[in-house]
Amino acid sequence: MGDLMWFAVLIVVPMLLGLYAQWKVKSAFRASMLVRASSGLTGAEVAREICKAHGIKDVGVEVSHGMLSDHYDPSAKMLRLSEDVYNGTSVGSLGIAAHEAGHALQHATGYGPLRLRSGIVPLAMIGSHVSNFAILGGCLAMALIGPKLGAPLLLLGIAGLTLVAVFQLITLPVEFDASRRAKDLLTSTGLVAPGEETRAMSRVLNAAALTYVAALVATVGTIIYYLFMLLGNQRSEE
Ligand SMILES: [Zn+2]
Repeated sequence: MGDLMWFAVLIVVPMLLGLYAQWKVKSAFRASMLVRASSGLTGAEVAREICKAHGIKDVGVEVSHGMLSDHYDPSAKMLRLSEDVYNGTSVGSLGIAAHEAGHALQHATGYGPLRLRSGIVPLAMIGSHVSNFAILGGCLAMALIGPKLGAPLLLLGIAGLTLVAVFQLITLPVEFDASRRAKDLLTSTGLVAPGEETRAMSRVLNAAALTYVAALVATVGTIIYYLFMLLGNQRSEE
């Protein structure tokens, strides 16, 4: 395969997968807004209800700005829900609110993968910053000076990206578990009815899960691409 082919397979395809997943979340969420949960509660009410039912009293729920900017902040013990989710009564809003509440439950019960993920956040951030500079510098050095300086820089960049990939890998069980908890909590309490309501909610949560898979695929693809570049250069040196 030619260089362009590798670039397409390892960089462009994963990037398109990521864009597709993001589009899919937005469109599934918009479609879910047409399906109002029969319970009539808002996302914020559901999140508070779930925390209360599990004896969690020190986690707040507040509005965050920006579409689908929903997240749980473990250091502030705060569930931040976007306006559409906070005030929304659609099954998509309830699904996302319950998913974020699922993260609060993970935190309260000391769920292993979440603790592991929190632990490596600083390393992953350093890895991400270092890899940006090292890969750009490595490619420039490779082209202008040669592999003497280019190869170590590229290796440093690959090491940084590997830290990011490990973080993204540990994120998968954390996210899948939060969505599983959300589905169980909402269907077992009857807040989301079986049938069309449950299907529309699942579509939003599954699409959101796909964005995390796509992010990991993109990082692994980039790592392999630069490894090939490194090996290719070493071979041409011999
Ligand atoms: Zn999540």
